[in-house]
Order: sequence, then structure tokens, then C-alpha cells
Amino acid sequence: MNHYDMLVIGSGPSGRRAAVQSAKLGKSVLVVDKGRRLGGVSVHTGTIPSKTLRETVLNLSGWRERGFYGRGYRVKQDICASDLISRLHKTLDHEVEVLQHQFMRNAVKNLHAAAKFVGPHRASLTTDAEETSEVEFDNALISVGTRPYRPGNVPFDGKRIIDSDEILEIKNLPRTLAVIGGGVIGVEYATIFSALDVPVTLIESRDTILDFVDRELVDDFIHQMRDRGMTIRLGRSVKEIASKSNGVEITLSDGRVVRSDILLYAAGRSGDVGSLGLESVGIDIDNRGRIKVDPVTFQTSVPHIYAAGDVIGFPSLASTSLEQGRVAACHAFGVPLPPPPETFPYGIYAVPEISTVGQSEEQVRASGVAYECGVARFRETSRGHIMGVNSGFLKLIFALDTRRLLGAHIVGEGATELIHIGQAVINLKGTVEFFVHNTFNYPTLAEAYKIAGLDAWNRMGSA
Ligand SMILES: Cc1cc2nc3c(=O)[nH]c(=O)nc-3n(C[C@H](O)[C@H](O)[C@H](O)COP(=O)(O)OP(=O)(O)OC[C@H]3O[C@@H](n4cnc5c(N)ncnc54)[C@H](O)[C@@H]3O)c2cc1C
Repeated sequence: MNHYDMLVIGSGPSGRRAAVQSAKLGKSVLVVDKGRRLGGVSVHTGTIPSKTLRETVLNLSGWRERGFYGRGYRVKQDICASDLISRLHKTLDHEVEVLQHQFMRNAVKNLHAAAKFVGPHRASLTTDAEETSEVEFDNALISVGTRPYRPGNVPFDGKRIIDSDEILEIKNLPRTLAVIGGGVIGVEYATIFSALDVPVTLIESRDTILDFVDRELVDDFIHQMRDRGMTIRLGRSVKEIASKSNGVEITLSDGRVVRSDILLYAAGRSGDVGSLGLESVGIDIDNRGRIKVDPVTFQTSVPHIYAAGDVIGFPSLASTSLEQGRVAACHAFGVPLPPPPETFPYGIYAVPEISTVGQSEEQVRASGVAYECGVARFRETSRGHIMGVNSGFLKLIFALDTRRLLGAHIVGEGATELIHIGQAVINLKGTVEFFVHNTFNYPTLAEAYKIAGLDAWNRMGSA
């Protein structure tokens, strides 16, 4: 029987990073994935496809140029589903190729099979052809990710009523789209289709969307969505969903009926742990199939079995999953690591982008720390004028006593890239003086940091 220092179950971001890190430490590694190709949810149904779709939509629709040429401007008339899908396939092929090459270079073995624990140091691997073998391992990482949550009362049919995996397989663009779920995935897809001029209705049972984001940003974002014609129904739950011959009817708790060509149901995901045989090793899951781990080492209740990525729940990002996988591998093989940085950024690739790092204004207020905010609107920057950007802003929050940056929040073009300046300053414990005394490239959107820093500094006074 084959024996490995590290068995990695799932080849998404956490599995991939753990596998390569283990191999770099000179360990023998096997990565098992039941998916047709390597890469996980991240490459095949999550991060990369949705971001590729977004990029294609922005390019073909001429979205970024509309500030200059008007809302009727399009690079390509009559955009169809195949325009979107062809670029998607090229990007995914490239991602898989890079991953395969990375595994090859690092002597990481991989197998297309479903893994199941059959003992504390043993797993069975079953291929599509139902051939089963067993392997032994010293350490294992459970990096199996999640799948869309599909409640029994939603009549999914793969055509009109679909989840976020199935939206990548639509044959025609919807004439109208309803999206249930005001979380990151729902909001991203709703705004991407809206950028294609598809009329979109976003439905969320809570009173707001993206509830972990600074309120001022969300308010601005909702205003931008409504301004371009999206319908947003907040604070109403869904009573009934019915598939009709010409579309979908969604009845809301207030009696209103939303009719659409396609319904995307994007209200949550559950851990993909059903077939893992966790009971045979004594690892428990919660009601959404998530595994509890030590937040520093990523060990499960069985110390030589680690879990990382979406299967452990919050924050469920590819970016954090990559890091978790590396940390788990280092811990498994006794490599000491410094404590992780205090904050990490969130990127929400909606149209427009949102990105945020550190504390929101609501959190700072709740903590009782006295603070001041500085704001810069992108339309006030020269780069903004050049690009025809007429919306979007950056908000910085500083503590009045230490003058340190506590939070940076951006909505608008380039937000997910720009946020890393705020992240660096927060984690390096920088103050408002950093923005005031440093020179920024001109003309750039990053100059907004300088403007927002000065805005706050003018009210805070010099140190
Ligand atoms: C639509 C969408 C958009 C997203 N956008 C972003 C974004 O912009 N930025 C970001 O940071 N994150 C984003 N995410 C989240 C990101 O995709 C996840 O955080 C990330 O994929 C989690 O990685 P993971 O390591 O948990 O593995 P996953 O990527 O979830 O992969 C798990 C793998 O495990 C395999 N597996 C499961 N069970 C078994 C088994 N028993 N045996 C063998 N293999 C098994 C599966 O086949 C799968 O390939 C998005 C997610 C979705 C759904």
C-alpha cells in the first residue's frame, strides 16, 4: 500500500498551497480530487470563472468607457452566451495547466478520485470507473470546499431555476434575471448581468446586503445599482418559487410577485463532506457541513488531520484558503510561523468593485475609539477624469489618539487592487502622516489615498 507524509483531499486553493508547501519541505504528497480536473471550486465554478465572466462582460459591453460615451455605448452589439463562455474556457484551461505544471515541478502526485477516510491513517480512493484502492498517510488535509446550498423547497431544474455552478452553463443570456441572495456571490452575478443591460431583480430577506461591509459604502453601492435600473427588494423573504412555461414566478412575503426568465438562487453554500467518512475518524460537522478547527494551526479534533478553506467556514475566500493551506502544512511538519497579520482584505468583484480592509465605521464606533474619517471621490482625481470615472470613493478611518489607520474601504474602479495600500499601512501600524507626507504617482487612482489622508488630517490637526 502506498504511504504519504501528506494526503491532501481537494485541489482548490488550500489543498494546492498545502501540497506545494509540503513538497518544498521534502515530504511525499498525494493530492486527490474527485473533480474532472484539478483546481477545485475556485478554478471551475467559483473565483476564476466568475471573475473571467466579469472581465469579459466589462470588455464587450464597453462598461468602463460609458462614463465618456454614454450608457448606450457597447464594444460589441448582441453579446451572446457563447461570447462569454469561450473566454472562460481559455482562462480555465490555462489555470489548470499552470497548476499541473506546479505539481509536476514539485513532485506532487495527484489522482482523480473520491477520497474517504477508513481509519485514522488510512483512506480509500475511488475512481470514476469504481476502482478502489487504499493509501496510508501520516498527516491529512481536508480541503474539500463547499457546494451551493440547495434547500428542498426551491425547484431547481438546471435551466430556469439554477445555482451558481449552473449559471456558467447557460446556453442563452437571460432576458430578465432574478437573483435570490444579497451576499457576495449573488451581488456579483446580479451586477455582472446588469452591466450587460439584462434587467435584474435582487432579492434579499434581510434589510441590507453585504452586511459585513462599511454602511456608507453599501449605501453608495445600492444607489449606483438602482441608478442604472436594477430592482432591489430588501427585507422580504421568499414565500414560493414556481417554474412556469415562460419563466419563473417568485412570490415574496409581502405578496409581491417577481417574474423573470431565469432565477439564480445564491443564498449560501454547504461543506462538501457527505462522502468523506468523517465518522470513521471521529470528526464532527455542523448543520452546514463545516468542520471546526484550531484557528491558529488548522488541526481538527484529530491532531494529524487538518482542515482548511471553505470547509471550515468564515471567511471562505480563495485568498485566505491559500494561506490556511500553507500554515497547516508548516504546522504538520514542525515549521514555526509568526502569528498571522491582524487583517486581510475582502474583494467583492461586483460592478462596481468593492474592497475593504480593517474595521468598518460601525465597528470602530462600537469599540468606543474616537476616530476621524477622510474621504476621496474618484471623480476628484485626475486619473478619474482621464478614465471618465464618475463614481466611486475611498474612505479611510483613523484613531484620534494613536493617529493609526484602522480601516480602508473602497467602492469603484480598481478597488480590489487599491486596497492593498490600506492593508499594508494598517498591518505596519502606519498613521495618517504616511498619506500626508508621502508622494503618490500622479495621475493615479491611488492618489485618492493622499486626498483622503489630507481630508482627515485637516480635521485632526497635526500631531
Ligand atoms: C461564484 C463564486 C465566486 C467566488 N469569488 C471569489 C473571489 O473573487 N475571491 C476569493 O478570494 N474567493 C472567491 N470565492 C471563494 C473561493 O472560490 C473559495 O474560497 C475557494 O475555492 C475555497 O477553496 P478550498 O481550498 O476550500 O477548495 P475548493 O476550491 O472549494 O475545492 C475543493 C475541491 O475538493 C474536491 N473534493 C470534495 N470532496 C472530495 C472528496 N471526497 N475526495 C476528493 N476530492 C474532493 C472538490 O472536487 C473540489 O475540487 C468565490 C466562490 C464562488 C462560489
